[in-house]
Amino acid sequence: MAGAATAYFLARRGRRHIRLLEKEKIAGTQSTGRNAAILRTMIPAPLLNRIACTSARFYLDPPAGFSTEPLVEKVGVYLAAGPNHAATLRSWCEANPENGQAPVDPSVMYGRIPILAPGLTHVTHKADDGVLDVHAILQGFLRGASRNGAELLLGREFLGLRVADGRLAGVETSEGFLEADKVVVANGGWAAAADTFGPYALPFAPYRRHLMVTSPLPEVDPHWPVVWIVGEEFYFRPESGGLLLCGCDAVKVAPEQGEVSDPAELEKTAVKAARWLPGLADARIARSWAGMRTFVPDDLFVIGADPRLEGLFWVAGLGGHGITCAPVIGRLAAEWIAEGGSAHPAAPALAPARLLG
Ligand SMILES: Cc1cc2nc3c(=O)[nH]c(=O)nc-3n(C[C@H](O)[C@H](O)[C@H](O)COP(=O)(O)OP(=O)(O)OC[C@H]3O[C@@H](n4cnc5c(N)ncnc54)[C@H](O)[C@@H]3O)c2cc1C
Repeated sequence: MAGAATAYFLARRGRRHIRLLEKEKIAGTQSTGRNAAILRTMIPAPLLNRIACTSARFYLDPPAGFSTEPLVEKVGVYLAAGPNHAATLRSWCEANPENGQAPVDPSVMYGRIPILAPGLTHVTHKADDGVLDVHAILQGFLRGASRNGAELLLGREFLGLRVADGRLAGVETSEGFLEADKVVVANGGWAAAADTFGPYALPFAPYRRHLMVTSPLPEVDPHWPVVWIVGEEFYFRPESGGLLLCGCDAVKVAPEQGEVSDPAELEKTAVKAARWLPGLADARIARSWAGMRTFVPDDLFVIGADPRLEGLFWVAGLGGHGITCAPVIGRLAAEWIAEGGSAHPAAPALAPARLLG
């Protein structure tokens, strides 16, 4: 998603000769094809919260020709906490007053989702949040980029940077050398592959997270909102007639292990589901999978120029918000690449320079 969004905004600025290298035969099969597709703008960190809110406006009212499909199913998101975690939810709302969370009486949420276990005493709601059409978003960025001349090279693996006499010359790929005076690293969990980047490696760390989907359930209304239980690290939303469930596991892994499911983590999610959705304890799990959320130590995105090598840019470390925030991520990255910097207020805090001693 990061590469597609960056190419889209670069191409719209009139930049030519953009080539998007993707090692897979199909775009969007890694984290972008393995996430929960939730538009939850209430990110606790205010900087990212504002980026999420701006990005949501793009999705709710995309540019003409971006997609024929609506990009957001506005089912709404409930954030709910019991007494033990009410202070956390309150602190998120106080830190982000412009986010637009509406406090609601818990009975409203329980009225909509009667199978939810009691005990959630503090609830907020945002009606415009909901479920993203990730495929339509990715295709919108890719189509817009290629319409403006960008080229998507599928099945072409980036193997490393070629630097000659201290200057960036291009990239080594699985099908030979490509000359380039600017290289943008937007490779998700593989940003942590230190061997690939040698002296230019940054402290990225992928964390694996699992999702599971139940078989269709008569109790589930497909128009239910997303419910996020704060502090208990459990969320769910309707999917394919059943429920998509997440226990918010986060185990640090090497990128090549990021999509390998761990039955023990799936079992932990099942235990949380039984706690919060007790009526569904016997529901069959139709499918499950794992994917990577990639972070740097301060948990903020990494967008911008690498001051160690002219022409090298990063758009990575998007954690658990890379789909929600892609419109601003792509725009900010394109400003860096085209202008050498960005006037966006978040730009300095997200720039790679902060990670260098
Ligand atoms: C379980 C889970 C749930 C999530 N839920 C949400 C959510 O609800 N909402 C949300 O906003 N975000 C969510 N996320 C986070 C979101 O999925 C990521 O932030 C986002 O997909 C990151 O996009 P990306 O483009 O950086 O990475 P990716 O989608 O992984 O893209 C990187 C691409 O680079 C390619 N690549 C890697 N190495 C090379 C190479 N050497 N040469 C060529 N190509 C290469 C890969 O094949 C891949 O296609 C979730 C993540 C997970 C794992």
